[in-house]
Formats: sequence, structure tokens, C-alpha cells
Amino acid sequence: MATKPGMLTDWPWKPLGSYKYMMLGPWAMHSLAKAKHELEDDQILLNGLLFYFFNSILPASSSLPVWRTDGVVITALLHAGPIEYLYYWLHRALHHHYLYSRYHSHHHSSIVTEPISFNGVCDDHAAVIHPFAEHIAYYMLFGIPLLGTLFIGVTSLASLFGYITYIDFMNNMGHCNFEFIPKWLFSVFPPLKYFMYTPSFHSLHHSQFRTNYSLFMPLYDYIHGTTDRSSDALYESSLERLQEIPDVVHLTHLTTPESIFHLRLGFASFASRPHESKWSSWPLSWLLTFINGGSTFLAETNMLGKLKLQTWTVPRYSIQSQEVNRSGEFFIERHPQLKTKVVDGSSLAVAIVLNSIPTGTTEILFRGALSKLAFAIVSALLQRRIQVATFYETEMLKLSAATKGEVAVSKSYTQKVWIVGDGLSRDEQVKAPKGTTLFIPFSHFPPKKERDDASYCHTPSMIAPSSLQNLHSCENWLPRRVLSAARIAGILHALEGWDVHECGDSIFDVDKIWEAAIRHGFRPTTISK
Ligand SMILES: [Zn+2]
Ligand SMILES: [Zn+2]
Repeated sequence: MATKPGMLTDWPWKPLGSYKYMMLGPWAMHSLAKAKHELEDDQILLNGLLFYFFNSILPASSSLPVWRTDGVVITALLHAGPIEYLYYWLHRALHHHYLYSRYHSHHHSSIVTEPISFNGVCDDHAAVIHPFAEHIAYYMLFGIPLLGTLFIGVTSLASLFGYITYIDFMNNMGHCNFEFIPKWLFSVFPPLKYFMYTPSFHSLHHSQFRTNYSLFMPLYDYIHGTTDRSSDALYESSLERLQEIPDVVHLTHLTTPESIFHLRLGFASFASRPHESKWSSWPLSWLLTFINGGSTFLAETNMLGKLKLQTWTVPRYSIQSQEVNRSGEFFIERHPQLKTKVVDGSSLAVAIVLNSIPTGTTEILFRGALSKLAFAIVSALLQRRIQVATFYETEMLKLSAATKGEVAVSKSYTQKVWIVGDGLSRDEQVKAPKGTTLFIPFSHFPPKKERDDASYCHTPSMIAPSSLQNLHSCENWLPRRVLSAARIAGILHALEGWDVHECGDSIFDVDKIWEAAIRHGFRPTTISK
């Protein structure tokens, strides 16, 4: 307290004492009224009430150790033994027509297992949510290890939260309708088959009703002869379906160690936002790369009409420079029998840069590493009778020679449109006139934005048509549903049936690919700032 308390020293609700929490009442009521139509949060409310109740009547629950091996082992044994066994018979009882029609049919309202996220959308999709009475029965079962270990004094935060996380994880995994448990897991430890179910195993319970009753461990179905005979075959065929042959593969690589978090596979919420290298967890990144075995992996699958699109990620942070692999030509030379066409997307990148230049522009400033793209862009600009100036004489000489056109060296840097690539420095950006400069990058990586008063376009990219499905993650630093020129170019080649490579020094018809992109519903992006 201040020595001479002035006006408003005390919080205004001090007179309310402990009743101050009542102030949150209207907010809670409002949230509940809103949630009634949006979320099935009954289970969250019940969990909250139960945890509050047991925490208040069991003083020991407030001071738990982080880890106790005996408690973890007892929890695991109690689950694998009585809990799984009791659940198995409870579940069979729930399939008796009396209980089935009154309770359990709710869980079976969907023959296809659906992820838990569907629960909130429609009551008919409540695959993981059960009627209240069923939840009470399950809570009594799961309470045996949770409260049992607490009563005998061996519980720990690890056994308590580990067990709840295990139940939630297994439940969601079993209903995800997507078989992803790798075969090697069962070959390393064959008995695991009896102790861990898979999404395809539980999906058979939803479609066949009278088989695969087990909670998470198929052991009791095997003991009582209720295992669905097609369990193994369905597991195998579901995994094979994953290896469907794609029509288009976008080959990409990690940009920084932490970019591995940006993959949709692991952290969907990170992947749904443009990647920024603000946070760093390198040790974990290296670990994830190590676990993956350092081999190329499937990062994303999309559909566009009948076209199957896949993105494969090479777990390296940089790949050979374009000069070394000659934009993929090196790969074709090494594999002369290759039936696949390699497309680097240069022509579309040129088209996007050209179409980002405001109409009426008569002069541009060019600055960036001289690549295949750089020469193609400058050549196209000169053909369109736009004056091109460079920062340095060496660039000017090389560009003039390659394009057989007239390129100048800028003296004043007053051009309002700057086409920029790798190597653009802060000092160079500072030279741009105040307020109106538009930076159009043609580089793979975006330039560092050093000017608050200038506008920066995205790296060459376009907005995907709405018919492109399953596109929930951001491609590196690009916004949601914006694809890089290289990725779109491959799709366009497949859609149009263009049976040609675009790599090495070759470049596709710029106007033709732009027209195709627009015709197939790809749209230009807006300026990023
Ligand atoms: Zn059932
Ligand atoms: Zn189920």
C-alpha cells in the first residue's frame, strides 16, 4: 500500500471481498450461451467440475511429485488389465439392443469414423462424444487408476496427466479415419499388435458393429474371438492406399532447422500461418530430422479435380545452387529413362513478375543475383519496351550481352519499381526514393523488408483456385492458399498435358503459362504490405 493512498489506489471491487469473482458471472453466462450453438463443450465442463471436486476433497492431489516410477507402472498395469477388460464387457453390453438403442447408438450414428473436430459441428457427427450416462461409466472406469494410485500414495503428475493424455490421444487416433501407424512398429515388437489398436481396427467396429470391441488394446477381442477377420487385411490395404501414385510432385526442402515445425504433419497451427523465423528450437528440430531418418518424406497431399498432388520434403536446409544442378537438368541427365517431366516454374515466375508491374510503368531498376530468371525477366521487359537500369556496371554488361538489349546503370535510383533478387542489401534498399517504391522479388526467398514506406510483393506466387482441396497449411512465408510459381507450374503442366521439361536453360512460353494459370482459376496475389 502507498504511504499516502491517493484516489483509485484500491481496486474498485475491493468492497466485494471474495465475492469479486461473481463479476465474471455475466461473462461466463454469455460464453455458455454462445457455446451452446457452437461447441459441444459438455465434456470439458464435466472434466472441470470433477477435477475441482476431487482436488478440493483430496488434499494429497495438490502436492504431487513430478514422477514416481511405481505409480506409472501401476497405472499402466491397471489400464492394461482391469480397465481394458471391464471396458470390453461394458462395450459388449452396450451393444445389447436395450442399451444400444438407448445410449450407444449415438456413438455409432456415423458408420465412418470421424475426427473429434466434427463433434462441434453437428450432433449427428458426435463420434467421440457419448451420452452422459455412458460418460459416467467411462469416468468410473478411468477413475480406478487415477484415484487408485492417489489413494495408495504413488500417483505423480506424470502418471495423472500421462494417463489422461494417453486416453485422449488413443481415442482421437482411433477415430481419425486415416491409417498411418507404420508397419515397422509391429515388426520391431510383434506383440504390440495386442496392445495397441490402429485407426483401421476401430473403423471395423463402426462398420461391422459386432467385432473389435476393445478400448485401445485388441488383446481382449483376440481372447474372446471377436476380432474382425479382415482387421489385418484392412490395415495392410489402408497403408497401401497411402502410396497412391501422384500426378504432380512438388519437391521442396526445409529452409531453416525450425522450418520443420512448419510442416502440417506435426504442428498444424504453426503450418496454418506464414512461416517466420522468429522462434528457435534448434535442438528439437535436429531431433525431429534425426527421427525421420534424414530421408525425403511426404509432407502434404492435395486434390485438384482428379489430379493428385503431393509435396515431398527433402530434409536438408539448402540444396545445390541452380548453377550446380542447372535447374533440374542435371537430374534428367543422370536418369535418361525418366518418364516424369521436370518443371522449375521459371516461365510462370517471369509471368508473375511482369504482371506485378503497375500498368504505365516505363522504367524499372533491376538488382539481384544474375540467374536464368533474371535474364528471362530483363529480356521480357526490354521486349515490352520498358527501360531497365541496374545498380552496377558488371550487372549491366552481363545483362546487355545476354539479352542483346540496352541496359543502363542507374545514377539516381529514382525508379518507382524495383525488381529484386538474391543479394539485395539494406544499403541498396535505403537508396530507393521515399514513399512510393514497389519491390517485386523474383528470388526464392523474400527480401528482408528494410523500408517501412515501400511496398513489397510476395515472392512469385498466385492464389489457388477454391477447387484445390486440403490446402490448409502455408507454403513457407506465403499466406494461406497462396502457392509458389514452381508448385503451380507443375500443376499447370499436368492439367494441360504439356509433355515437356522446363529446366536447365529452357524456359516455357511466358504468355501461354500465364493464360493457362488464369484459365484454371489461379489469381494474382495482392501486395504483401
Ligand atoms: Zn460400439
Ligand atoms: Zn468409436
